[in-house]
Amino acid sequence: MSQPLRTRFAPSPTGRLHLGNVRTALFNFLLARMAGGSFVLRIEDTDAARSEEDSVRQIAEDLRWLGLQWDEGPEVGGGYGPYRQSGRAGIYLEFMDRLRQAGSAYDCWRTDDELRMFRKARIAAGRPPIYDRQWAALPEDEVSRRREAGQSPALRFSVPRDGQLHFEDCIRGRQTFGLAEIGDFVIGRSDGTPSFFFSNALDDSLMGLTHVLRGEDHLSNTPRQLLILQALELPAPSYGHLPLLVGPDGAPLSKRMGSAGMAEFRADGIMPEALANYAARLGHASDSGKLMSLAELAAEFRLDKVGRSPARYDPIQLEHWQGLAVHAASAEHLAEWAGPGAFERVPSDRREAFLDCVRPNVLRPADIPHWADVLFGRGPRFSPSMVQELEQTGAAFFSAALAGIEAGAPDLATIANAVKAGLGVKGRRLYRPLRLAVTGAESGPELGPLIDLMPTDTLKARLERWTAVRDSC
Ligand code: GLU
Repeated sequence: MSQPLRTRFAPSPTGRLHLGNVRTALFNFLLARMAGGSFVLRIEDTDAARSEEDSVRQIAEDLRWLGLQWDEGPEVGGGYGPYRQSGRAGIYLEFMDRLRQAGSAYDCWRTDDELRMFRKARIAAGRPPIYDRQWAALPEDEVSRRREAGQSPALRFSVPRDGQLHFEDCIRGRQTFGLAEIGDFVIGRSDGTPSFFFSNALDDSLMGLTHVLRGEDHLSNTPRQLLILQALELPAPSYGHLPLLVGPDGAPLSKRMGSAGMAEFRADGIMPEALANYAARLGHASDSGKLMSLAELAAEFRLDKVGRSPARYDPIQLEHWQGLAVHAASAEHLAEWAGPGAFERVPSDRREAFLDCVRPNVLRPADIPHWADVLFGRGPRFSPSMVQELEQTGAAFFSAALAGIEAGAPDLATIANAVKAGLGVKGRRLYRPLRLAVTGAESGPELGPLIDLMPTDTLKARLERWTAVRDSC
């Protein structure tokens, strides 16, 4: 039997999620669900200074909001914990020691300042700023002097001097890196904490992860991480690097803090279904333009449908999915989304009909109280150009409309027939002034159902207002 598929999302808790890592989390989740595997959440909080407790809580909350419930990880536990790297210090030290013992890693006593100077000098000499093991090797008495002065060494991984490293990226295909260009790199900092390369690769292996989907910006880290796992004789996951996500201007999205972030999406009333459907198509081809559930998205998720060229964040597309999500939402869901008070003005027996009527014109929570106000509130405020237009339409138009209501019924067909019969106007010249007078807006929900919902007194008052004006014809 083949090994069960295991994926993970491994955020560093340094703020809110943004669209880039939302997509990474989603793709890992969909891959796991597609294959009936497990989705693991691991918090990469080894950098204590930058990690914030609040961010861990917020990331978990945002993932749940999107419906990306993890099978193992913080809060839910699992057989491969701890799932926060801050709880795994002992494991890192043990494996660092194994590498040291095996001669695959060595203590490096050079300070950061010395390394900076060294790199600068190499660049000035027109040579690549690659770490030089020979230069870094200090005589024994200098090492003793530094140790006595209280300095601690970093632990550096010893990269083979020549040859190539190949791996099969499960999205981008075969990748080749020349080892000579990599240079020895730090796996343990002088304060004993692991570097990203080390803890990230080690945990992926020890947690039995089979697939790691992550941003293309990590591609150059992968050869280092494979070298570490090879030296430890540990299995490596299959890595897949997702195409870069760029903003509407073509610049990388993740670099522009504050934009396309969860905080903005949620404050703006974006629905989780809209965001998930949008993100699922960022770099993954889909045959369907339908709004899908996470289970449906998972069923059609395939690694060979993930592209290689950059995916562009397009707020207009997100808006399109938002429209579909609002359209598909249940009345209860919309009520919860719009918040308490949104339906205050709507008579309780007309709430469902009201929602059916205004739903195509709702994209944000505030649109619901807005339309409630248009239909059941004190009446629209007209812009000067609307006043002018309605005055030009003339009192006879509105008198005919009112007479229609008196003689027949307060519905659009009756009103329209009366105006047509009385004044001979039709089409746009008939419906536009009616809509303007009744709603104070040039566009909005279908006029017929809207008029049916409106209390007759309100409707009459809105038409009456324009019967007092001087007729222009
Ligand atoms: N903590 C890393 C990040 O947030 C994880 C990278 C990876 O997925 O391997 O970028």
